[in-house]
Amino acid sequence: MGLLVLGNLTLPWDEIDMNVQEKVVHSETMDNLYGILCVQCPFFDDGCDFAAERRGEPREPVRRDATPCGGFLFLGACIDRGSIDIQALNQVI
Ligand code: SF4
Repeated sequence: MGLLVLGNLTLPWDEIDMNVQEKVVHSETMDNLYGILCVQCPFFDDGCDFAAERRGEPREPVRRDATPCGGFLFLGACIDRGSIDIQALNQVI
């Protein structure tokens, strides 16, 4: 889902550093992205361990360390760096 959203953003792509190595997204960014991105993702209800865990409905077998998808992590890293504004995301999701 995160990568689909990226395609809808009108951003100066050549100015955005795409070399994202971080897999840790700030907790506030995680909460915000979950609220605007995950809840509209087609995998939210069925198909994403991360979303199920956040809803308090972990899928079987139960995992306690489910991570978001790559698109989520990429967007989160870009937001944390200030490359992408979360309000801009909110307008295209
Ligand atoms: S983390 Fe899961 S629910 Fe959120 S955007 Fe990625 S696949 Fe969808």
